[in-house]
Amino acid sequence: MEKFVTKYGVFIGERKDILPLVKPFIRANQQNEKFWGFIVTDCTIKIYYSWADYIRSVKFPQNTHATAYYLPQKNRIGIISPTIRKQVHSWNELFLHEVNHVYCKHTTTGYVPAWMYEGIAICFEKSYETLDKKRWKQWFFAQKRKGKSLYFNCNKWRHKNASYYYSASYLVVDFLLRTGGRNKLCSLLKKLPAYGSHDRVKTIISKHYSTTWEELIENAFC
Ligand SMILES: [Zn+2]
Repeated sequence: MEKFVTKYGVFIGERKDILPLVKPFIRANQQNEKFWGFIVTDCTIKIYYSWADYIRSVKFPQNTHATAYYLPQKNRIGIISPTIRKQVHSWNELFLHEVNHVYCKHTTTGYVPAWMYEGIAICFEKSYETLDKKRWKQWFFAQKRKGKSLYFNCNKWRHKNASYYYSASYLVVDFLLRTGGRNKLCSLLKKLPAYGSHDRVKTIISKHYSTTWEELIENAFC
């Protein structure tokens, strides 16, 4: 294992595996730096060479499909080595997404609902732009507990239905970005309370965007 230092953070892994990741990581940081207006220099990017070590490092369930993660408590991006498991996304996409989590975490002092974290990262990664909104609207409104498809406190559920959860999160955040822009979203993130309930978060977002939650959700899927 080797350490490889960059302006934005330190890689830990085997040199041959680190080298192809450096450029995509730096590019993702430059884009995020532009969007958020500040720089994060102390992120760790760790490559894992055993599935057991990888899932233990972030408490993922054994059968998770996630091949990379961001752990805010440690400010660490974890990646399973492609020699152990194939990556689904390109390195560019992967770093745009995970590095976005790094900056989002550093923007707030409290807690951001996981759906919002993911929604912003997916907007940034730009891989969901062809999503069939009609289909997702049907799915979302067919849920018994609509809030649940955006809930932050649903780790188990989230891993089982990740694709649903990510699509719904993306559509809501994409709508917030389209209607209010970057500055309004950033000021919202700073307003969110530490570990606020879903209802509290809903109220703050509705007020911030001068709409009702129901209207916002309705419009996000159109
Ligand atoms: Zn994510």
